[in-house]
Amino acid sequence: MVVGLRQHLKQSVDIHRIELPTPLPVGTVNAYLLLGGDQAVLVDCGIRERTAWACLEAALAEFGIEVRDLTALVLTHPHVDHVGWAGNLQNLGTPVYSHPQATRWLDPDEHTAAFRERFFEDLYTRCGMPQADRERAFAEFSFLQQWTDRSVVDVPLSEGTVFPPLPQFRVLYVPGHAQAAIALWNEQSGELVVGDQLLPHISSNAIVEPVMDVPEPSALHRTRSLVQYRENLAALRRLQIRRVYPGHGEVFSGADALIDLRLKDQVRRRDQLLDLLKHIGPCPAYELALAYFPQHRHQPSLILSEVLGYLDWAAVDGLASEEVREDGTLEWRAV
Ligand SMILES: [Zn+2]
Repeated sequence: MVVGLRQHLKQSVDIHRIELPTPLPVGTVNAYLLLGGDQAVLVDCGIRERTAWACLEAALAEFGIEVRDLTALVLTHPHVDHVGWAGNLQNLGTPVYSHPQATRWLDPDEHTAAFRERFFEDLYTRCGMPQADRERAFAEFSFLQQWTDRSVVDVPLSEGTVFPPLPQFRVLYVPGHAQAAIALWNEQSGELVVGDQLLPHISSNAIVEPVMDVPEPSALHRTRSLVQYRENLAALRRLQIRRVYPGHGEVFSGADALIDLRLKDQVRRRDQLLDLLKHIGPCPAYELALAYFPQHRHQPSLILSEVLGYLDWAAVDGLASEEVREDGTLEWRAV
């Protein structure tokens, strides 16, 4: 029995990149086909748009596989460009594997959806975002929803668990870019299917999300996503990674150098933001975001998330502090 398991673990898994188009500024998104033993596992599935589906079917056909032959769908994180077709694949009989928290985004119940909306309303307002920009942020969120369908997590995957269809892989929990983010790690081969946690050509945004296990949504109960993201990068740095399969861009090696570069660039950006904050004087995070990203006002939610992430990290390190003004606004100052 033990020998059998060992032999099974030694079997190699072939990983094939499937590049799918999206109409979003990010460009294309990667799905991966993992073939090993009698398993045909798809990791992520692109945006719910017909050309992406046609591309997916054509790529599978090259391996003599039809959509209904897939034995599992893994979602690295519940962002629309990665999960668009999950509901459809699930309806066709493919079980969905992802982090247990992913269902909150894939198929939110009424309470969760309302909680999240109230959280972002509170966050945007108290971070000093004017109403026109708040409306734009919510419109952007609704716009993205058209590219996905509802699905649920059939098999939850948590940190450290073996991935049942292909036990060569272990699950790593990598919150930061998304709270429900996972990666698949094959220690034997040094292969890491990483989602958007580590991208070759762009730095990944650590997106602020609500803390859900509190009675009332509040801007104060938000995830310190960049702090988590950096902790995860540091943890990945300790692995012997040979090859990275990212959510966007080409498959690459040299993960250590890239992680070092990302960590260093973040320190530089944090210092720039703190210098700017000193120059402007105490202000809400959105004011700092507009000063730092004047050309990105059309992406209010993204620039706020980015800057707030850095401020929260600076606060953890004692370099900045957040105070609640009398009107509830959250004001930042460099320490
Ligand atoms: Zn993505």
